[in-house]
Amino acid sequence: MKVLLSKAEIQQRVRELGAEISHRYAGQPLTVVAILTGSVILVADLMRELSIPHEVAFVRASSYRGATTSAQALVTDLMGLPDLSHRHVLLVDDIFDTGRTLERISKEVQLLSPASLRTLVLLWKTARRDVDLKPDDFGFQIPDKFVVGYGLDFNGQYRHLPEICIFDEKSAPTLTA
Ligand code: 5GP
Repeated sequence: MKVLLSKAEIQQRVRELGAEISHRYAGQPLTVVAILTGSVILVADLMRELSIPHEVAFVRASSYRGATTSAQALVTDLMGLPDLSHRHVLLVDDIFDTGRTLERISKEVQLLSPASLRTLVLLWKTARRDVDLKPDDFGFQIPDKFVVGYGLDFNGQYRHLPEICIFDEKSAPTLTA
């Protein structure tokens, strides 16, 4: 697999994002809300780059293809969220592709009346956006290629890779348990 972003490049950018966030929210109650599962490694690294107090919470988004439908339905679960009223929310996801996931969850979080809401993604595939929303902050703009690693999977695998790789099914090594 071809490395698109090295471990060092990601680490450096996450460090910069952490510094920007720490500056922006200094002295304010911040809750980082991460969208499972792809953002787990990003949020774990990002929170350790924050020099300000903050809470972390998780929501879930998954797409599935119903047995009788061809379109992918997006299912969200915000049940585990704490009270967000009077808190500034930074919604974090691994990748912005069409943007439907981030737009949907943003709307649902907005209904919980946070003091403010911003969005951050590590990767932004700028070619494929089909919603009005754009991420407020991003790590890298990337081409329209399927990528894995640093939390991003293919069929549940490759999330552990320390770099972001362009996935090529034909040449990818087979991982066995
Ligand atoms: P969107 O709703 O923006 O179209 O898609 C967001 C979700 O699609 C991501 O959170 C991720 O789960 C999945 N996704 C989109 N592009 C990629 C990709 O290149 N690689 C992987 N592994 N997942 C992707």
